[in-house]
Amino acid sequence: MSETIFDKILRKEIPAEIVYEDESAISFKDISPQAPVHVLVIPKVKVAGFADFESRSNEEVGALFKAAAITARKLGLADDGYRIVVNQGRNGQQTVDYIHIHILGGRPMNWPPG
Ligand code: AMP
Repeated sequence: MSETIFDKILRKEIPAEIVYEDESAISFKDISPQAPVHVLVIPKVKVAGFADFESRSNEEVGALFKAAAITARKLGLADDGYRIVVNQGRNGQQTVDYIHIHILGGRPMNWPPG
């Protein structure tokens, strides 16, 4: 797997505004927010993309989603709701090959997504 900017954020080699961290994941603010609240959640054990979850343990997959739910609650989004997004591959517009859950909140979302 090729090195990404998120590997460097995880190793704290480049700055990021971390809003949540536990034994399996970290959450940090997106550098180019698309909503009043826009946070990314990544696992500490690298996975390139959502498609690779097929070969990972239920615990790994579950831990990332659980970290996202905890992060959203800590950000105060749980009552009004929010959107989580995982972009996968070229058609999904994935630009960083390190799986990340986008948490978007602070305004009503549109549907269908573009
Ligand atoms: P995706 O298009 O799903 O791969 O999303 C990648 C996200 O990473 C985009 O929303 C970018 O704004 C965000 N991003 C890229 N570099 C950084 C960075 N250094 N710190 C925080 N977010 C970043």
